[in-house]
Amino acid sequence: MSATPVMACVALGANLGDAVATVQQALRDVAALPETRLLKASSLYRSAPYEAQGPDFINAVALVYTQLSPLALLHALQALELQCGRERPFKNAPRTLDLDIIFYGDVSLDTPELTLPHPRWQERAFVLQPLAEVWPERVSAVQLAGVKDQAIQRMA
Ligand code: AMP
Repeated sequence: MSATPVMACVALGANLGDAVATVQQALRDVAALPETRLLKASSLYRSAPYEAQGPDFINAVALVYTQLSPLALLHALQALELQCGRERPFKNAPRTLDLDIIFYGDVSLDTPELTLPHPRWQERAFVLQPLAEVWPERVSAVQLAGVKDQAIQRMA
């Protein structure tokens, strides 16, 4: 018996190499994950590094329906990061590809490996802006006002 699909939100970010191509490919890779279907992908956004270093980031979010468990989804996303040559020399280092689970249905989880919803998603314009594009009801005006000082631009 297969699990009921759950809607999850995945945030994508890259700021090394050809970050636009990386995020576009990662969106295709997320859509192709097993037991997972892409519901909506946001536009790409360009954001200034926030609590991070290096060049501007390219960001997007994807809403998916998935039958993977939260941990299976995390591991699948980490495999995509590794496939993209991600290294973790230090916390918040520039990265070829960063994939975070922002929420997974209405699951709350606080384990060493996975926290749901993502603990910092409401502080980040690069999550809130693309999420507001694909699911406006999920993001409030107050939340958007809270990140208005973070430089971010929707790309054509
Ligand atoms: P980062 O270096 O920012 O990609 O953080 C990755 C680490 O955060 C991994 O070790 C994950 O196990 C952990 N983590 C905790 N919660 C989440 C989440 N909701 N999505 C992605 N990674 C998470």
